[in-house]
Amino acid sequence: MKKIAFFDAKPYDKVWFDKLFKNKYDISYYEYKLNLETAQLTKGFDVVVAFVNDDLSEKVISVLSNNGVEFIAMRCAGYNNVDVKAAYKKIHVARVPGYSPYAVAEHAFALLLSLNRKIHRAYARTRDHNFSISGLTGFDLKGKTVGVIGTGKIGQVFIDIAKGFNMNVIAYDLFPLKDRNINYVTLDELFSKSDVISLHCPLTEDTYHLIDKTNIEKMKNGVVLINTSRGALIDSEALLNSLKEGKVKAAGLDVYEEESEFFFEDFSNVIMKDEVLSALLALPNVIITSHQAFLTDEALENIATTTLENIEDFYADKPLKNEICYRCEKAGANPNCYKNMNGRCF
Ligand code: NAD
Repeated sequence: MKKIAFFDAKPYDKVWFDKLFKNKYDISYYEYKLNLETAQLTKGFDVVVAFVNDDLSEKVISVLSNNGVEFIAMRCAGYNNVDVKAAYKKIHVARVPGYSPYAVAEHAFALLLSLNRKIHRAYARTRDHNFSISGLTGFDLKGKTVGVIGTGKIGQVFIDIAKGFNMNVIAYDLFPLKDRNINYVTLDELFSKSDVISLHCPLTEDTYHLIDKTNIEKMKNGVVLINTSRGALIDSEALLNSLKEGKVKAAGLDVYEEESEFFFEDFSNVIMKDEVLSALLALPNVIITSHQAFLTDEALENIATTTLENIEDFYADKPLKNEICYRCEKAGANPNCYKNMNGRCF
């Protein structure tokens, strides 16, 4: 039976993985994240299952490869934490590209609705028997312009939800869709016209700190920013300053650029070391959730199902439709992609 080392395991992960992998694979769940130190534990394992804040840098991949790991199954969509170039020709890496775009898009909207109608503050007030509504004024979403950056699986669901609220949707994507009747604009136009901006593009070299001081200055006064994609799309210090100045009215963040140190763990008994995160958390017009946008029953089932399929396809010598490599990142623009022609990246 093939052996799987499952990193950053949480109780909610085990529900579906135990159910689907039982009697097929020998899974060891590790609560800690994968890093250079914990990678040493993978000796004797065939497969590593990893998540968004695991470290799959060149050095870690080299340890996994030397330890005989044959396959890395990312149980997430984003793979910015994987050095895909280092893995190329050493270990095949697959991901779960679309386990539930609804989960993430609906969470993005939950952040927007909560921030706008100040549900987080109302909840705290009424629990304290304070029934005052002063300071809780929001605005109608109907007729407001929402700018969506990245119109992939999640961005498209977000757009459909926004249209249901009768919002005016504009969008930007490197690869605009021709068949979806989306009103694409330039990034600068999106920044200058949007009342709300929601980020749904991946973190790449091009999108690192896409939302920085310069681009925030191009935005409307009082813009609301929502980020359920990856933390480093936003320069957090620039965001903090713009929130203090009132340029940005509110921010809903499910991701944070330094989240790997904190998110998914309980730090309630510890003094928070990250001053920017502390300052953001202290603002009444900021809601931070701990990378939980994916966390629905449906998404967890789909993550486990697709991860199992990826592993089974690998051992059955089948094409790996969800494999990633550094050349696949540009595959959309490359009809001669090796995987498209040969079923696997190498
Ligand atoms: P997707 O691949 O379907 O869509 C991404 C879109 O972004 C594509 O249309 C692509 O063309 C576009 N894009 C790429 N580079 C761009 C750029 N420089 N500028 C503008 N657009 C660009 O991905 P998806 O499933 O919609 O997921 C989007 C992101 O959401 C993922 O990359 C991941 O980081 C994040 N995510 C977060 C969670 C969570 O729990 N918070 C869960 C899943 C995914």
